Amino acid sequence: MKVQVVQSIEELRRTLAPIRSAGRSIGLVPTMGALHAGHGRLIETARRESGCVVVSIFVNPIQFDRSDDYSRYPRALPSDLEFCTALSVDIVFAPPAEEMYPAAQCAFVEVNEISDHLCGPFRPGHFRGVGTVVLKLLNIVQPGRAYFGEKDAQQVAVIRRLVKDLNVAVDIVEVPTVREADGLALSSRNAYLTAEERRIAPTLHRALQAAGILISSGVTCAAEIKKKALLVFDAHPEVRVEYLEIVNPADMQPVEQIVGPVRVAGAVWIGKTRLIDNLLCIPSCARPVQAASG
Ligand code: AMP
Repeated sequence: MKVQVVQSIEELRRTLAPIRSAGRSIGLVPTMGALHAGHGRLIETARRESGCVVVSIFVNPIQFDRSDDYSRYPRALPSDLEFCTALSVDIVFAPPAEEMYPAAQCAFVEVNEISDHLCGPFRPGHFRGVGTVVLKLLNIVQPGRAYFGEKDAQQVAVIRRLVKDLNVAVDIVEVPTVREADGLALSSRNAYLTAEERRIAPTLHRALQAAGILISSGVTCAAEIKKKALLVFDAHPEVRVEYLEIVNPADMQPVEQIVGPVRVAGAVWIGKTRLIDNLLCIPSCARPVQAASG
């Protein structure tokens, strides 16, 4: 059966009301479309855990810090609907921009501290736009659970804090990153890469892995780890590193000495395309001691 497509907020609320009163749990997967297997993993997880799965497809203008990035962002609604049908999604909510922002938006959500590092300083207003649209979607759909990808770990941290500080009644579920065989994290933006750029794109993941190996082997000085991980890019001067940071996974603040789990996160530019990725790294001192057998 073809997925049901809803474009207006009022119709979505009307459609969800009997589902909610029948006691069926609602799972929301917010996306910007151009769906790929990374989104697919979120949808499959939601499908297993929810009575009714809603996928939102909305390229949110207020989270783009560059207007050319917004206009160029891939849009692929017909194939996205086939993708959602194949994964047994119940409802796709695909509002036009005027439905979400009928007038100039005056109320915004800012999540301080967590937005201060990594992508925050490089994309002014980005997390304010993300927080605002996610809160709007949570208020419109009122799901029991909402699903987000670890690929955008800072975004998940922002949303977790937003939900906590503003008392939103939803469980945030974080889904592991889906990668290509060579380690490149799936992203709608990968479609921009030329064949040559695609070949070198996994360098970011390799640099994060290099940091992860040092952390697992007991190196605790973040500056030393960053310096060594950045050497991975020496073979590819065409990759411009925006940042490579080691942060506390909960509040996304940079750490200097590694004494517990950390997230190593990076952003690079390859030609006109910006890619981000991150890895959760657990130092040996923070791993549970294995029980001796026999
Ligand atoms: P986007 O459409 O890029 O805004 O992404 C929508 C959701 O899919 C976000 O929660 C992303 O973190 C998640 N996502 C994007 N790429 C991946 C991936 N490779 N693996 C897992 N989740 C992803």
